[in-house]
Amino acid sequence: MIILRTPQELRRWREALPTETARSVGFVPTMGALHPGHASLLRTSRSAHSTSVLSIFVNPTQFGPNEDLAAYPRTWDADLEIARAEDVAAVFAPQPGDFYPPDFSTHVAEELVSSPLCGPFRPGHFRGVATVVLKLLNLVQPSHAYFGLKDLQQYLVLQKMVRDLAVPVTLVGCPTLREPDGLAMSSRNRYLSPEEREKAPLLYRELQQIARSLRDGETQAPNPRGLEALTTAARGRLSQQGFSVQYLEVRELPHLAAPDLATPLPEGRTFAVAAAAYLGKTRLIDNLIFGPN
Ligand code: AMP
Repeated sequence: MIILRTPQELRRWREALPTETARSVGFVPTMGALHPGHASLLRTSRSAHSTSVLSIFVNPTQFGPNEDLAAYPRTWDADLEIARAEDVAAVFAPQPGDFYPPDFSTHVAEELVSSPLCGPFRPGHFRGVATVVLKLLNLVQPSHAYFGLKDLQQYLVLQKMVRDLAVPVTLVGCPTLREPDGLAMSSRNRYLSPEEREKAPLLYRELQQIARSLRDGETQAPNPRGLEALTTAARGRLSQQGFSVQYLEVRELPHLAAPDLATPLPEGRTFAVAAAAYLGKTRLIDNLIFGPN
């Protein structure tokens, strides 16, 4: 496993790959602090490609001024162990100054899918994500790149970017890995106090409840008002348990439009119920994708 520190090193390594290998490269971009969710992306890549590239880069441009950039967990040695165990061929781990030279001045802004949900709460976040991922894709030139559906909006924004800008790569969305009690695995879970950790799975339980209600046609009228009543009640229960909820909403894929739900759920369409909430100082996000069946 080779460790590449600069865009130039990565480019040289990529250019030296034999033609056969170069055609099928899997790429998993991360910010490190790897957990089994990240390992599952690496495993999916490994099952499809003889060469997988992992990037570890805590991208400063996707953090807001009051977010946890400085405190973001860094677990380099453990990350490398996971990468080795998953047969990663190359780890790209640049310093911010090498990735973003002082005169860096070009950004990518997707403006539809990035608007709702996290959009208003994290201004500039998806612009930072789209820009870093496009640059990483240009450097690694993978045939396939693997993303977690835990960050559903991020995945959909990147899918839109790839389609809009004709980026020659296939993005693959991979299922969310969860703790046995349902909490979505996240590098940020380590910030939770024992009491917060105990409450954290309630978020996913509320999402499950809403998806179940809509799928079973349980609400009297799953029209916009019936839906609003469902989500308002869920937000209320979470607040009572100490969550500070930013949003908990049902949206339709792939553009995250507000749905006009009919009873029963329309065939051939896919929805997601998505939420972001603080528990103490830790921001949790989660979602559940569902359709009529
Ligand atoms: P991160 O470094 O946490 O921003 O995430 C890097 C990649 O791992 C992203 O594509 C995430 O969506 C994905 N990821 C994070 N947590 C999970 C999880 N619990 N299950 C599956 N994928 C995940």
